[in-house]
Amino acid sequence: MEEIRVRIAPSPSGNLHVGTARTALFNYLFAKKNNGKFVLRIEDTDAERTSQAYVDNIFDSLKALGLNWDEGPDVGGEYGPYTQSERFDIYPKYIQELLDKGFAYECFCTPEELEAEKEQATANKQAYVYSKKCENLTEEEKAKLRAEGRKPAIRFNIAKAQKAFHETSILAFEDLVKGHLQQDTNLIGDFVILKSNGAPTYNYAVVIDDMLMKISHIIRGEDHISNTFKQILIYEALGAEVPRFGHLGMILAPDRSKLSKRHGATAVSEFVEKGYLTEALINFVALLGWSPSDANEIKSLEEIAQDFRINEVSSSNSIFEYDKLNWMNGQYIKKMDIKELTKMAKPFLAKYDLTELTEEQLEKVVAATREPITILSDLTNDVSYFFGKDIEFEEGVKEANIDTEQGQAILKEFASRIDSLAFDDEEKLHEQMAEFRNFFKEQGIKPKVTMWTIRAALTGRTHGADMGVVLEVLGKDKVQYRINKAIV
Ligand code: GLU
Repeated sequence: MEEIRVRIAPSPSGNLHVGTARTALFNYLFAKKNNGKFVLRIEDTDAERTSQAYVDNIFDSLKALGLNWDEGPDVGGEYGPYTQSERFDIYPKYIQELLDKGFAYECFCTPEELEAEKEQATANKQAYVYSKKCENLTEEEKAKLRAEGRKPAIRFNIAKAQKAFHETSILAFEDLVKGHLQQDTNLIGDFVILKSNGAPTYNYAVVIDDMLMKISHIIRGEDHISNTFKQILIYEALGAEVPRFGHLGMILAPDRSKLSKRHGATAVSEFVEKGYLTEALINFVALLGWSPSDANEIKSLEEIAQDFRINEVSSSNSIFEYDKLNWMNGQYIKKMDIKELTKMAKPFLAKYDLTELTEEQLEKVVAATREPITILSDLTNDVSYFFGKDIEFEEGVKEANIDTEQGQAILKEFASRIDSLAFDDEEKLHEQMAEFRNFFKEQGIKPKVTMWTIRAALTGRTHGADMGVVLEVLGKDKVQYRINKAIV
């Protein structure tokens, strides 16, 4: 069997988008499932829209998601990606081959002339297709145009290629995801493959690269279907084997429009900055088109790879449900190893003086506050009362729980017991608190009401981490200070 080789070929005109991450993931899974290779190629032919920062971001994001690629130029013992701009000397050779075979021709049309053609088509209410004005220029005519200082672009001759390899103008292929797809090639204009400045265009360079990198399967978004027909003809014109194609449905926002910044984060790095775990993100992204064979949607990359079949991928669009991602992220936060989670949480606690707590205490704090948070950045607010001397009260909390006669009575009683509380002995402390609650229960005050008052005085809120952890981590001095401050 031929070797399965797939690739992700992002253009570095932005940070790695979750949609691209999904495409990368499905390629990666397909490779893993079939003992194949997953290749990364940076498509930076459009120099104006490209930036090194975006290249780095793509690189880092794929790695963070665990989508490691299998080959590329070696950079210090690691694989770098293939980069189109470093391959510019490869592309002219095949241009010449296409010219020699008559599948391409020089086009001297100026942007103004092309614009006029387009305007004419619009005026006639027709879809624009290049007029092929330059298809049959004689050598004399070309020389004359050159003498005028015009530099030709190279166009691919659709009709010639179609006629050479197909009986009718219909070009068809079997898509791995969408099944039979076809297109009347009369509706495809002869497109530019090499610009007049010598730069290859996407549709051309992508074929040369995929051909030379022996890519066997091309899995990408359905927005590329129209390009696929053009690309198939180039493969055929070069006498190369045509790879199999699979086109994925698009990812839409909950309002069914194109997923964009106004809906929330869209770049992988943005999600990470907000406190999403890459394990959760990749799990969620896998479900945009793929479903597991059992009912359990929470799966590691490894488990997904075992269960993945490209022909079962949905051909329709998927909705990016931020709520579901939040839920899933919460599930991962809940189960994560506490040491690991604490490490991941630290960037979100940068505004606090972490030296106030030992590492062990910090782990306790994270363990006691990880539920019900959904993203790590929620921790910033949720742990605030563990730091500093003073606290801020949530609205209404002080009035309802502390500034009442009953609240004051509870606080005074508690204050009288602080000296004897066993802050370092979890079990004993637990008993002492139970006894304290009972003291008021006998007077008809519900235990939870008693605790609300203490919690309010110590944390400024009525909900939060387990009280045992709050007392233990705050320690006697802070507890005493905050309780005394609440007593008027
Ligand atoms: N650079 C193209 C893109 O980012 C790659 C498309 C393809 O997979 O061929 O859309």
